[in-house]
Amino acid sequence: MKKEQLNTADLDLSSTTGVLCEECGNHTFKPIFFLRKISRFLTGEDADKILPIDSLACVECNHVNPEFAPPIVKQESNKQKNNKQNKKEDE
Ligand SMILES: [Zn+2]
Repeated sequence: MKKEQLNTADLDLSSTTGVLCEECGNHTFKPIFFLRKISRFLTGEDADKILPIDSLACVECNHVNPEFAPPIVKQESNKQKNNKQNKKEDE
């Protein structure tokens, strides 16, 4: 499936909306990579493989808006949050 490229030259920017960091409200982002390790037992190769997934992070606070995060990373960070909350309740 071929992704159609958006022609930004004809686009009226006043009809677009800016994306802000959900943590600090900053509006500049930098490219980042999430890395997923694929077990060599799955690929059948000699060594584990690293799969980079590109995304965007806030330049100011490094927060990754959920809309930029790959679904698997969202799932895992939700789990981490829940773990933290559980720990707090134990204390
Ligand atoms: Zn931020």
